[in-house]
Amino acid sequence: MEKVYHVGDCPVCRVGMMEIVYDLYTHKCSAECDECCLKFDSISDYLNKKNGYREFFTVKDNLPKERTATLEDIEDTEWIDYIIESG
Ligand SMILES: [Zn+2]
Repeated sequence: MEKVYHVGDCPVCRVGMMEIVYDLYTHKCSAECDECCLKFDSISDYLNKKNGYREFFTVKDNLPKERTATLEDIEDTEWIDYIIESG
């Protein structure tokens, strides 16, 4: 199974985990809830529970926009100090 890196619980639904995802267009990592899809673009936003948002895709946007982040994606980012490994 593919390794998943996350930073903790979702502050909104409290069920999901904030999984690190890699944006294929901006080449940045974000944390996205695996249950309710809430996203945070920075660790400080997540820790302060602010600036969370959700992206909604239309049929037109059916190309993959992001993928599960790998350790290589994460290691040079601010997320690296906070990740919890699972999967
Ligand atoms: Zn959630």
